[in-house]
Amino acid sequence: MHIPFCRQACHYCNFHFTTSLHQKNELVVALLKEIEMQKKFFLGEPVNTIYFGGGTPSLLSVVDCRLLIGAILQNFNVAVDAEITLEANPDDIDPAMLWGWKEAGINRLSIGIQSFYEEELKWMNRAHTAEQAKCSLQLATTAFDNITIDLIYGSPLLTDVMWEQNVQTAIQYGIPHLSCYALTVEEKTPLHKYISLNKAEPVDSDKQASQFLLLMQWMRDVGYEHYEVSNFAKPGFRSRHNSSYWKGNKYLGIGPSAHSYNGDTRQWNVANNQQYISSILTGVLPNETEDLTAANQLNEYIMISLRTKEGMDLEIIEKKWGVSKSAMIKKLLQRYLQTRLATQRNSIVQLSDKGFLQADGIASSLFIS
Ligand code: SF4
Repeated sequence: MHIPFCRQACHYCNFHFTTSLHQKNELVVALLKEIEMQKKFFLGEPVNTIYFGGGTPSLLSVVDCRLLIGAILQNFNVAVDAEITLEANPDDIDPAMLWGWKEAGINRLSIGIQSFYEEELKWMNRAHTAEQAKCSLQLATTAFDNITIDLIYGSPLLTDVMWEQNVQTAIQYGIPHLSCYALTVEEKTPLHKYISLNKAEPVDSDKQASQFLLLMQWMRDVGYEHYEVSNFAKPGFRSRHNSSYWKGNKYLGIGPSAHSYNGDTRQWNVANNQQYISSILTGVLPNETEDLTAANQLNEYIMISLRTKEGMDLEIIEKKWGVSKSAMIKKLLQRYLQTRLATQRNSIVQLSDKGFLQADGIASSLFIS
């Protein structure tokens, strides 16, 4: 469920959102209607995870949260033990909201911390302070066990010592799951503009690589499982929602710019709040559809599986896409096996730490047309 509102625009962000909150109520009405319109999507199959992402879902009132979860429960076959995650920003977290979310059915919180350093938060134009970041974790851990936080590395201000301190702070608060992302400079973001005007220092990719290697070592030392390039979990705390994407399961996205996948096609809703609301309220789903070819599906499998700890299974490729495709990929793989960027055991190919650094590049070099 995509909630396309934020308090202020982070300089690096290229997601769909608006900082103007006046359409929040209309949007919730449209989301409720879309849930109903999409009720046949899973054909009665169980829904095992629900994820409120954005944007900033913690800007929703608890009442809206309860209404949306209620509508999902009413229209879909939701498993009793479903994982229900809400993304929250530190400045929205207080005891009343935490217990309200819990009562509404949220059982996992994803908190957008990014950094515990004031100067970095200001540089990124985050809406919260370093103090709020720490305080939010202290409060959140009193209400939820299952918490993940996002951290960003590789910004020009972040030294290795600061990076270690950010990671250690999360560990000291007992946060069982961390998603750590390299700062990327996306086009059409304020950060891109500032760098091109020499008003911000460019991102140093060597520093990013070394901070990622450090991170992998630190997390291993404290017993977190590195189960996907950007994700680390204590045993039992992997994200079931994200893991489900990586296994290629169906998913339904509700809301402006939300994406869905039904096994054969991908659909995406218009990334415009007004157009989304108007269309839904006239009973028309504002989405486009792309049929996925066999090659699309294979390339997607390569891309996603190589990013995971489980790795890519050549036997699956052979069974699903044929012997010739599997043979082509095996041939292309040789240079990565020889340079130890990847290892192979039986039919499973996994990337090494250094391989993870270039996961997307390695995957796309194996793509089949
Ligand atoms: S809060 Fe999240 S979605 Fe909103 S601008 Fe910042 S990074 Fe983007």
